[in-house]
Amino acid sequence: MRLYERQSKLGVYHTFHRKNTVYVFKCDSCGDIFLRARSQVDPERASNDYKHVCNNCDTKKFAQSVGVKMRHIYKIDASSTKLI
Ligand SMILES: [Zn+2]
Repeated sequence: MRLYERQSKLGVYHTFHRKNTVYVFKCDSCGDIFLRARSQVDPERASNDYKHVCNNCDTKKFAQSVGVKMRHIYKIDASSTKLI
């Protein structure tokens, strides 16, 4: 997952109407790119260490699928020496 931070004063994107710093997230669920104003993002969560899900996706559903995925990976690790 990638995380970008851009400021509108750089004039990179005219679609940024406000002069706020905007984070550009890639949805970890569907892969869509979506924007979120810095004021709406918890600074501690504005990092690639956290998963981000767009408005079109169900966060709880995604969290569940990640949980299943992680369990699946650990299960494989526990029962096999094969590298993924
Ligand atoms: Zn999504």
